[in-house]
Formats: sequence, structure tokens, C-alpha cells
Amino acid sequence: MVLSATARDLLTDRISRLGDTPGATIDADTHITDLESLRPDFAERMAATPDYFHGRPISAELLLNEMAMAGVDMALVWQNPSATAYGDDRQQDYAALLAANAYVFESSSRFPGKLLPAGWTDPKALGVDLARQLIDVCVEEFGFPVVKMNPAQNAFPIDSEAVLACVDRIVELGAVPAFHYGADTEFTPPEGFASVAARHPAQMIIGVHMGGGGAGYVEAEQHAQASRKMINDLGNVFFIESAKRDTHIESDFICAVENGSWRRTAVGSDAPYGRMTWNFGGSKAMLASLSEGSAHTDPRLESGAVVVTREVVGGFLGDNIRALMIEACRSVLDTAS
Ligand SMILES: [Zn+2]
Repeated sequence: MVLSATARDLLTDRISRLGDTPGATIDADTHITDLESLRPDFAERMAATPDYFHGRPISAELLLNEMAMAGVDMALVWQNPSATAYGDDRQQDYAALLAANAYVFESSSRFPGKLLPAGWTDPKALGVDLARQLIDVCVEEFGFPVVKMNPAQNAFPIDSEAVLACVDRIVELGAVPAFHYGADTEFTPPEGFASVAARHPAQMIIGVHMGGGGAGYVEAEQHAQASRKMINDLGNVFFIESAKRDTHIESDFICAVENGSWRRTAVGSDAPYGRMTWNFGGSKAMLASLSEGSAHTDPRLESGAVVVTREVVGGFLGDNIRALMIEACRSVLDTAS
């Protein structure tokens, strides 16, 4: 593998910046869009109403404004899939997704202390060959230490051959595979995610939404429970708490402390699909209440069986994803050398 000089510099710079910022609050799931080259239907909808609609795009600058309001120091950023226009031509779809990734790259280069860039590929729309080609660009040219796929949005199973071929390439480059992992469709079941994780047991794999992901309360119940069990059973899964019901997020926090897996969980907003002020305001208040122990209504805290320390709180709010990103950047550099 051949890392570009730019990618090498960015990865090295990121490791040093992240190493210097213990205790930083980091949003582990945000999506940005180049509003200057917005697809026409989104531009029309945005012009028609100031109200929210699903996936309403935000630029890097708007994300920074949101971070300031929410008390968030850094954000992991990837493209916004609903704003990326696909047609029926694989080369054109490749160009569209490449442009979306390039905007993430340029934005993180403009705000290196604020934005942690991550890539996105899509074996369904692009086909396996172009999807793998895009992985190479994301890691080798842009220096992204994480590459994500969304089987739910594109309606392909998480453990299909095409997806596994992409996972294998991401891992070969030393980067971390990430998935939309939710109960909102049948394409990302817990068994599917677990089988992808088991394929590369020495490699961390990120499950964004930890079984939530816009699913209804009742539908998400089993997914949430299976995910709490999975993080205990599989040492190489890392979950991001975004687009998920608050009650399950709290149970996840408590269980992760109880079973010792808490360093593999991080808070995210899923902005613009979720509000950063809400997710971080709520998570900070929730974690403060968990730290109060015996005053909490959960029997595990009330009895003192689970103790939520300041270190744990800092981990959920930023230090865990910070450590994972440092490790991922190092792994890409080591694999290339
Ligand atoms: Zn997201």
C-alpha cells in the first residue's frame, strides 16, 4: 500500500493533536455536506422551508456552530448519505460519493483541531470493485483511519459477499470498518454484525447506533438487548450511542461498566439527523446522575454494585473514541511502512 505524503502528514498530525487533548468532549457521529454543490431536490426543500426534514444537510461551518452551542470540542465527521445523489450509473455514483468524501477531507484539513474525518463506501451502488477503489482513496490519499458502510440505507445484508470484500480491504489497509448498525431495517441484525466482527477478531469494528438507528421503540428492544450482550462477548466491537432511545443508552452505559467493556462505547449525535445540544446535554446530565450512585433509581447503582467514576464519564464523552482514533491512525501508518 502507498500512503500519500498528505495522508501520512495528516495521520501523524492527528495522533499528536488527539494525544494532547485528554478529556475533550467528542461527538462520534456527525455528517457534513458541501452546501455549495447541493443536489437540486435538497436545495429546493431547504429553500422551501426552515423546518427540519430527514437528513437536512449541514456544512462543516454549521457543524462547528452546533459544536460551540453543545459544548463539544471535536467531532468525527463523515458524509451525509441522504444528500449524496445516486443515479443508475456506477461511475457517476462513484464520482458523487468521492466528491462527498473529498468535502469531508477538505473540511477536516481546514479545521484540523475540530474535525476527525472518516470515509464512506458503498458496494451496492458502486459495485465491489469501485467500492474497494474508493476505500483505497479514503485511506491512502485522504488519510481517513475509519471507513463506513450503511447496509440499511442501501438495502443489502451486512454479511453479504460484497460487504465482506470491502471489510477485508479496509482491514488490509490497517483502517477500522464502521457500520450503520440499527434495528430500522432487516439488513443489520445483531448476528450479521457479530459475524462481520468475528471475521477479523484482532480488528476493532464500529457499530454506529448500537442497535437503534431510527427504529421504533418496540422493534429496537431486542436489538438493544442483543447489542449489550454482544459488547460483553466480543472484545473487538465498539459502539456509538446515537439515534437511540435514552432509556437504552442509560442501560448500555450501566451494563458496560458492570461488564468492564465501557472503553468501547462513545456518545454521538448523528447530526444533522439528531441534535447535538440534545444528545450531549442529555448524555452529560444522565452521566452526572449515574455518578451519584446510590441516589439513582437503577438497582445496580443504588446497591453500589456499579460505580460510575469520572474516568468512565470522560471515556463515554470523548476519551474512548479519542483512543480508538489514535490507535486507528497509528495502525494505518504502521501498515503502510
Ligand atoms: Zn450517523
